[in-house]
Amino acid sequence: MRNQSEEQIRAGRGGGTALTQQRKVVLEVVQASAGHPTAAEVFEAARKLLPKISYATVYNSLRYLKEAGLVHEITFGNSASRYDRETERHDHAICKECGELVDFNLPETSSLMLSAAEHSRFKPESIHLTLVGLCPRCRTD
Ligand code: ZN
Ligand code: MN
Repeated sequence: MRNQSEEQIRAGRGGGTALTQQRKVVLEVVQASAGHPTAAEVFEAARKLLPKISYATVYNSLRYLKEAGLVHEITFGNSASRYDRETERHDHAICKECGELVDFNLPETSSLMLSAAEHSRFKPESIHLTLVGLCPRCRTD
């Protein structure tokens, strides 16, 4: 459990209102995941800690935690979102075969933001690189 998150919880929205038990369990599950679980995977793990928790509650809690900046959501077009305990900027590589999603950090990515903003005419807020390919277990070469 990282101190930064604890502080963010206390300083969180609603003037220091503590997280509900369900939200706390959902946050704990994401923070205990080394990988990048889907909502369904978070639900499976949360259920073991809080047997009566529903999928809808897990889903809504993830949305709340994301808005509070305590977890990060990674979206991929049509496939299920993945949740990340690491909220600092970093890059990802995803395996198109097995879905394995790993972190890496390329310092150069940040410097691409201005040029990306120019090309898209967007006002930039963040940038994140996703490498798509085959993970070491799935690659055959
Ligand atoms: Zn793979
Ligand atoms: Mn990540």
